[in-house]
Amino acid sequence: MKDRTVYLLGAGPGDIELMTIKSMRLIKQARVIIYDRLANPDILAQAPSDCKFIDVGKNDGRHPVPQDEINEILYQNALKYENVVRLKGGDPFVFGRGGEEAIYLYNRDIKFEIVPGITSAISVPAYAGIPVTQRGVVSSFRVITGHEAKGKAVSQIDWNSFKTDETLIFLMGLHSLKKISTNLIKHGKSPDYPVAVISKGTTKSQKVVVGTLENIHEKSKGIPTPALIIVGHVVLLRDKLKWF
Ligand code: SAH
Repeated sequence: MKDRTVYLLGAGPGDIELMTIKSMRLIKQARVIIYDRLANPDILAQAPSDCKFIDVGKNDGRHPVPQDEINEILYQNALKYENVVRLKGGDPFVFGRGGEEAIYLYNRDIKFEIVPGITSAISVPAYAGIPVTQRGVVSSFRVITGHEAKGKAVSQIDWNSFKTDETLIFLMGLHSLKKISTNLIKHGKSPDYPVAVISKGTTKSQKVVVGTLENIHEKSKGIPTPALIIVGHVVLLRDKLKWF
Protein backbone atom coordinates (compact mmCIF):
# COMPACT_ATOMS: atom_id res chain seq x y z
CA MET A 1 0.00 0.00 0.00
CA LYS A 2 1.22 3.47 -0.81
CA ASP A 3 2.01 5.91 1.93
CA ARG A 4 -1.22 7.72 2.57
CA THR A 5 -1.64 10.61 4.92
CA VAL A 6 -4.65 12.34 6.34
CA TYR A 7 -3.96 16.00 7.06
CA LEU A 8 -6.04 17.36 9.91
CA LEU A 9 -5.75 20.90 8.78
CA GLY A 10 -6.74 24.22 10.33
CA ALA A 11 -7.79 26.85 7.80
CA GLY A 12 -7.78 29.84 10.11
CA PRO A 13 -10.70 32.03 11.12
CA GLY A 14 -12.07 33.18 7.76
CA ASP A 15 -9.80 35.66 5.99
CA ILE A 16 -8.10 33.39 3.46
CA GLU A 17 -4.82 35.25 3.92
CA LEU A 18 -4.74 33.99 7.50
CA MET A 19 -4.17 30.44 6.27
CA THR A 20 -0.63 29.15 6.73
CA ILE A 21 1.65 28.53 3.77
CA LYS A 22 1.65 24.86 4.69
CA SER A 23 -2.12 24.56 4.79
CA MET A 24 -2.41 26.29 1.40
CA ARG A 25 0.17 23.93 -0.13
CA LEU A 26 -1.71 20.89 1.17
CA ILE A 27 -5.07 22.16 -0.13
CA LYS A 28 -3.50 22.70 -3.53
CA GLN A 29 -2.40 19.06 -3.66
CA ALA A 30 -5.42 17.45 -2.01
CA ARG A 31 -7.17 14.48 -3.65
CA VAL A 32 -10.10 14.63 -1.25
CA ILE A 33 -11.25 17.41 1.07
CA ILE A 34 -13.64 16.60 3.88
CA TYR A 35 -15.09 19.78 5.30
CA ASP A 36 -18.03 21.23 7.19
CA ARG A 37 -19.14 24.77 8.05
CA LEU A 38 -16.38 26.96 6.76
CA ALA A 39 -16.04 30.63 7.48
CA ASN A 40 -14.59 31.02 3.98
CA PRO A 41 -15.84 28.76 1.16
CA ASP A 42 -13.29 30.33 -1.22
CA ILE A 43 -10.73 28.03 0.35
CA LEU A 44 -12.20 25.07 -1.54
CA ALA A 45 -11.60 26.90 -4.82
CA GLN A 46 -7.85 26.52 -4.17
CA ALA A 47 -8.03 22.72 -4.57
CA PRO A 48 -7.09 20.92 -7.81
CA SER A 49 -9.91 20.64 -10.35
CA ASP A 50 -10.20 16.85 -9.90
CA CYS A 51 -10.35 17.05 -6.10
CA LYS A 52 -13.29 15.29 -4.48
CA PHE A 53 -15.26 17.31 -1.91
CA ILE A 54 -17.21 15.71 0.92
CA ASP A 55 -19.44 17.98 2.99
CA VAL A 56 -19.96 16.46 6.42
CA GLY A 57 -21.52 19.63 7.78
CA LYS A 58 -25.02 18.84 6.68
CA ASN A 59 -26.53 15.41 6.30
CA ASP A 60 -29.54 15.41 3.91
CA GLY A 61 -29.34 19.19 4.07
CA ARG A 62 -30.31 19.45 7.72
CA HIS A 63 -28.38 17.63 10.43
CA PRO A 64 -24.62 17.46 10.74
CA VAL A 65 -23.07 14.05 10.07
CA PRO A 66 -22.43 12.33 13.44
CA GLN A 67 -18.79 12.28 14.57
CA ASP A 68 -18.39 8.48 14.35
CA GLU A 69 -19.53 8.61 10.73
CA ILE A 70 -17.08 11.40 9.98
CA ASN A 71 -14.30 9.30 11.50
CA GLU A 72 -15.23 6.38 9.28
CA ILE A 73 -15.43 8.60 6.17
CA LEU A 74 -11.89 9.80 6.92
CA TYR A 75 -10.69 6.23 7.30
CA GLN A 76 -12.38 4.94 4.13
CA ASN A 77 -10.99 7.80 2.07
CA ALA A 78 -7.53 7.28 3.50
CA LEU A 79 -7.66 3.68 2.22
CA LYS A 80 -8.47 4.92 -1.27
CA TYR A 81 -6.56 8.16 -1.73
CA GLU A 82 -3.29 9.81 -0.92
CA ASN A 83 -3.47 13.35 0.43
CA VAL A 84 -6.76 13.36 2.24
CA VAL A 85 -7.43 16.74 3.82
CA ARG A 86 -9.76 17.10 6.77
CA LEU A 87 -10.37 20.81 6.67
CA LYS A 88 -11.38 22.66 9.82
CA GLY A 89 -11.95 26.24 10.77
CA GLY A 90 -9.36 27.87 13.03
CA ASP A 91 -7.09 25.29 14.61
CA PRO A 92 -7.95 21.56 14.44
CA PHE A 93 -7.22 20.97 18.13
CA VAL A 94 -9.17 23.94 19.53
CA PHE A 95 -12.71 22.57 19.90
CA GLY A 96 -12.25 21.10 16.45
CA ARG A 97 -12.54 17.40 17.41
CA GLY A 98 -9.23 16.92 15.62
CA GLY A 99 -7.97 14.81 18.49
CA GLU A 100 -10.84 12.34 18.23
CA GLU A 101 -10.33 11.97 14.50
CA ALA A 102 -6.58 11.49 14.89
CA ILE A 103 -7.10 8.77 17.52
CA TYR A 104 -9.52 6.94 15.22
CA LEU A 105 -6.88 6.96 12.46
CA TYR A 106 -4.10 5.96 14.86
CA ASN A 107 -6.14 2.94 15.96
CA ARG A 108 -6.38 1.87 12.31
CA ASP A 109 -2.74 2.42 11.41
CA ILE A 110 -3.42 5.38 9.15
CA LYS A 111 -0.73 8.04 9.03
CA PHE A 112 -1.85 11.53 9.89
CA GLU A 113 -0.40 14.98 10.31
CA ILE A 114 -1.76 17.88 12.32
CA VAL A 115 -1.53 21.21 10.54
CA PRO A 116 -2.18 23.93 13.11
CA GLY A 117 -4.19 26.95 12.09
CA ILE A 118 -4.78 30.38 13.57
CA THR A 119 -7.57 29.87 16.05
CA SER A 120 -10.56 32.20 15.99
CA ALA A 121 -10.20 32.49 19.77
CA ILE A 122 -7.38 35.02 19.46
CA SER A 123 -7.55 36.23 15.85
CA VAL A 124 -11.21 37.23 15.81
CA PRO A 125 -10.74 39.50 18.87
CA ALA A 126 -7.59 40.89 17.19
CA TYR A 127 -9.61 41.90 14.12
CA ALA A 128 -12.08 43.56 16.45
CA GLY A 129 -9.28 45.56 18.08
CA ILE A 130 -9.34 43.53 21.31
CA PRO A 131 -6.04 42.10 22.58
CA VAL A 132 -6.62 38.97 24.69
CA THR A 133 -3.89 40.05 27.11
CA GLN A 134 -2.62 43.53 27.93
CA ARG A 135 0.17 44.47 30.30
CA GLY A 136 -1.30 46.21 33.32
CA VAL A 137 -4.83 45.09 32.47
CA VAL A 138 -4.92 41.32 32.37
CA SER A 139 -2.25 38.64 32.30
CA SER A 140 -4.13 35.53 31.22
CA PHE A 141 -6.98 34.37 29.06
CA ARG A 142 -9.16 31.30 28.90
CA VAL A 143 -10.94 29.73 25.98
CA ILE A 144 -14.14 27.98 26.99
CA THR A 145 -16.82 26.11 25.10
CA GLY A 146 -20.29 27.60 25.44
CA HIS A 147 -21.77 24.40 24.11
CA GLU A 148 -20.79 21.25 25.89
CA ALA A 149 -21.14 17.62 24.85
CA LYS A 150 -24.67 16.24 24.61
CA GLY A 151 -26.43 15.69 27.88
CA LYS A 152 -24.33 18.29 29.64
CA ALA A 153 -25.34 21.90 29.88
CA VAL A 154 -23.39 25.11 30.27
CA SER A 155 -24.20 24.64 33.94
CA GLN A 156 -21.44 21.99 34.03
CA ILE A 157 -18.91 24.80 33.77
CA ASP A 158 -17.19 25.61 37.06
CA TRP A 159 -18.36 29.22 37.27
CA ASN A 160 -16.58 29.69 40.58
CA SER A 161 -13.27 29.33 38.77
CA PHE A 162 -13.86 32.59 36.87
CA LYS A 163 -13.46 34.79 39.93
CA THR A 164 -10.12 36.20 38.80
CA ASP A 165 -9.96 38.99 36.24
CA GLU A 166 -8.92 36.87 33.27
CA THR A 167 -10.11 37.46 29.75
CA LEU A 168 -12.79 34.85 28.99
CA ILE A 169 -13.38 33.75 25.42
CA PHE A 170 -16.42 31.60 24.76
CA LEU A 171 -16.66 29.71 21.48
CA MET A 172 -19.95 28.18 20.33
CA GLY A 173 -21.67 30.20 23.01
CA LEU A 174 -23.99 32.53 21.14
CA HIS A 175 -27.10 30.50 21.92
CA SER A 176 -26.13 30.30 25.58
CA LEU A 177 -25.20 33.96 25.88
CA LYS A 178 -27.95 34.73 28.37
CA LYS A 179 -26.98 31.75 30.53
CA ILE A 180 -23.31 32.65 30.36
CA SER A 181 -23.79 36.27 31.40
CA THR A 182 -26.32 35.39 34.11
CA ASN A 183 -23.93 32.82 35.57
CA LEU A 184 -20.98 35.21 35.53
CA ILE A 185 -23.02 37.84 37.39
CA LYS A 186 -24.31 35.25 39.84
CA HIS A 187 -20.73 34.22 40.58
CA GLY A 188 -19.47 37.68 41.39
CA LYS A 189 -18.86 39.65 38.21
CA SER A 190 -20.35 43.12 38.07
CA PRO A 191 -23.36 43.55 35.73
CA ASP A 192 -21.49 46.34 33.92
CA TYR A 193 -18.47 44.12 33.22
CA PRO A 194 -17.47 44.61 29.53
CA VAL A 195 -18.38 42.01 26.90
CA ALA A 196 -18.18 41.89 23.13
CA VAL A 197 -19.85 39.56 20.67
CA ILE A 198 -17.97 39.23 17.39
CA SER A 199 -19.70 37.67 14.42
CA LYS A 200 -18.02 36.43 11.22
CA GLY A 201 -14.73 37.81 12.44
CA THR A 202 -11.91 38.56 9.98
CA THR A 203 -14.35 38.54 7.03
CA LYS A 204 -16.06 41.34 5.11
CA SER A 205 -19.22 40.61 7.13
CA GLN A 206 -17.57 41.04 10.53
CA LYS A 207 -19.87 42.59 13.13
CA VAL A 208 -18.93 43.60 16.65
CA VAL A 209 -21.37 44.39 19.42
CA VAL A 210 -19.97 45.81 22.65
CA GLY A 211 -21.99 45.84 25.84
CA THR A 212 -22.04 44.66 29.42
CA LEU A 213 -22.91 41.35 31.05
CA GLU A 214 -26.29 42.85 31.76
CA ASN A 215 -27.23 44.08 28.30
CA ILE A 216 -25.15 42.09 25.80
CA HIS A 217 -27.87 39.51 25.25
CA GLU A 218 -30.36 42.18 24.25
CA LYS A 219 -27.87 44.22 22.20
CA SER A 220 -26.60 41.30 20.13
CA LYS A 221 -29.98 39.75 19.29
CA GLY A 222 -30.12 38.43 15.74
CA ILE A 223 -26.37 38.58 15.14
CA PRO A 224 -25.35 35.74 12.80
CA THR A 225 -23.05 32.78 13.60
CA PRO A 226 -20.22 31.96 13.77
CA ALA A 227 -19.75 34.30 16.65
CA LEU A 228 -17.64 34.35 19.77
CA ILE A 229 -18.05 36.09 23.10
CA ILE A 230 -15.19 37.86 24.82
CA VAL A 231 -15.53 39.01 28.42
CA GLY A 232 -13.06 41.29 30.16
CA HIS A 233 -11.61 44.78 30.56
CA VAL A 234 -9.60 44.31 27.34
CA VAL A 235 -12.87 44.81 25.43
CA LEU A 236 -12.66 48.53 26.25
CA LEU A 237 -9.33 48.83 24.43
CA ARG A 238 -11.32 48.52 21.22
CA ASP A 239 -12.12 52.22 21.51
CA LYS A 240 -8.54 52.93 20.46
CA LEU A 241 -7.51 49.71 18.75
CA LYS A 242 -10.42 49.20 16.38
CA TRP A 243 -8.77 48.99 12.97
CA PHE A 244 -10.65 46.61 10.71
N1 SAH B 1 -11.36 25.12 15.74
C1 SAH B 1 -12.01 26.42 15.69
C2 SAH B 1 -13.16 26.52 16.66
C3 SAH B 1 -14.28 25.52 16.38
S1 SAH B 1 -15.67 25.82 17.37
C4 SAH B 1 -10.97 27.49 15.96
O1 SAH B 1 -9.85 27.20 16.39
O2 SAH B 1 -11.28 28.66 15.70
C5 SAH B 1 -16.59 26.93 16.36
C6 SAH B 1 -16.71 28.26 17.05
O3 SAH B 1 -15.59 29.08 16.78
C7 SAH B 1 -17.89 29.08 16.61
O4 SAH B 1 -19.06 28.69 17.27
C8 SAH B 1 -17.46 30.47 17.02
O5 SAH B 1 -17.63 30.67 18.41
C9 SAH B 1 -15.97 30.43 16.76
N2 SAH B 1 -15.63 30.99 15.44
C10 SAH B 1 -15.03 30.36 14.42
N3 SAH B 1 -14.83 31.20 13.38
C11 SAH B 1 -15.31 32.40 13.77
C12 SAH B 1 -15.37 33.69 13.15
N4 SAH B 1 -14.91 33.90 11.93
N5 SAH B 1 -15.92 34.70 13.84
C13 SAH B 1 -16.41 34.52 15.10
N6 SAH B 1 -16.36 33.33 15.73
C14 SAH B 1 -15.80 32.29 15.08
